[in-house]
Amino acid sequence: MSNPNTFASLGLAEPLLRAVTDTGYEHPTPIQAQAIPQVIQGGDLLAAAQTGTGKTAGFTLPILHRLLQNPAKGRKPGQPRVLILTPTRELTAQVEESVRTYGKHTAIRSMVMFGGVNINPQINALRKPLDILVATPGRLLDHAHQKTVDLSGVEILVLDEADRMLDMGFIRDIRRILALLPKQRQNLLFSATFSDEIRELSRGVLNNPAEISVARRNTASELVKQTMVLTEQAHKRDLLSHIIRESGWHQVLVFTRTKHGANRLAEKLTKDGLSAAAIHGNKSQAARTRALAGFKDGKVAVLVATDIAARGIDIDQLPHVVNFELPNVPEDYVHRIGRTGRAGSEGSAMSLVDRSEIKLLNAIEKLIKRPIERTTIEGWSPDMVKAEPAHVRDADDDRPHRSSQPRRHGGGTGRSNGARSGARPASRPRSESGSPRTGNSAGRSGQPAAKPARSHNGSGQSAGSNHRSSAAPRRAALLGK
Ligand code: AMP
Repeated sequence: MSNPNTFASLGLAEPLLRAVTDTGYEHPTPIQAQAIPQVIQGGDLLAAAQTGTGKTAGFTLPILHRLLQNPAKGRKPGQPRVLILTPTRELTAQVEESVRTYGKHTAIRSMVMFGGVNINPQINALRKPLDILVATPGRLLDHAHQKTVDLSGVEILVLDEADRMLDMGFIRDIRRILALLPKQRQNLLFSATFSDEIRELSRGVLNNPAEISVARRNTASELVKQTMVLTEQAHKRDLLSHIIRESGWHQVLVFTRTKHGANRLAEKLTKDGLSAAAIHGNKSQAARTRALAGFKDGKVAVLVATDIAARGIDIDQLPHVVNFELPNVPEDYVHRIGRTGRAGSEGSAMSLVDRSEIKLLNAIEKLIKRPIERTTIEGWSPDMVKAEPAHVRDADDDRPHRSSQPRRHGGGTGRSNGARSGARPASRPRSESGSPRTGNSAGRSGQPAAKPARSHNGSGQSAGSNHRSSAAPRRAALLGK
């Protein structure tokens, strides 16, 4: 097949092409160019693609096309023709929104279904005719048990982000759902990775599938500028606050490992005068939706999220992602930074790394096959915080404190309460570029720079110069690699 460069050349029906034109997309993305004809033909598909590649339109458009080509005859309410399973509420809502967007010039009806909200409105909605159901597995099974949904008419099944569904322990639920579907159907499985578990699942679900794979965003695109700052866990909150304020960032998605960490960080940033909100699985659906809406429309500048809550969050032209902590699973780093640098716009992804995370950093760099550029923040040195008596910091810090004796600087910046509270240190000029003043020590270290906090000379020189010197031999070694 030639490389189709227009949506029209993919054979999509006219109402769908009109909807695509309305969105402003000019060309199909690689996953769309490959998946759309494949799905239109009716065969099964195993696709390696992650969020940010345009995969949602890659399956939604041809599914809508197939439904238009084969109109339903005498269907019952609550009996979908297409079932799309996704791991999270957010992704479910987003996929269904895509169905509505691309199907807006058609009469095709869709519905979203997830847990954590009252089931009754869903039961009411299932009393109406339905073509496409987008659901999370648990709530779908609740409905199946209550017989409020009838899956016996499903013609097309999509498992979206199947790797994440397995990670989240949905395999049993998926198997129960599969048992409720007709044997004869089309199956599409999308996954960021093809692990052994995914291969096994696909063998059980897919029938002689076509296989397509598109490159990971971060290897395919240079649009995401990846940097890391070496710091200490206990300093991260102040540092992040400082970076956001100093840089004038207005929309930044921050990842934490834990729900509690997300809450605490959002509280801290709010105390520092930033508009911040946390989003994670313990929040009510209403609170999550509110936070996300605020973030999208600019009322919330900093959205702090756990990996699972952030999965599926799709914000056009999100400029900044911060890894407050590195994820335990290297693939999650790729998912995280894939939130930015989408659809042709540039983005930045900054990781705050402490020495306990060096192993994770190594694993990530191995996965992405390149070093993450090391950056230092001018006007910020770990010493500035470290010099404060521990009890001052502890009031606002739920993390175990590293033993550090209060220490005085010789002069220059001295210790800066401004830095601690997130305010710009008075002695530092504000960055004019809209990004933090940084010094790159390029390359990366498999080790943290030797005691970076201790080596600061207190002369008012930036932490950058300090880090640069200590990292220089490793950098040379890396560049020579
Ligand atoms: P997805 O990978 O499905 O989460 O999509 C990622 C982002 O790409 C979404 O914001 C889509 O609106 C956008 N997108 C999808 N297809 C295209 C396209 N052909 N051209 C430009 N942007 C697109």
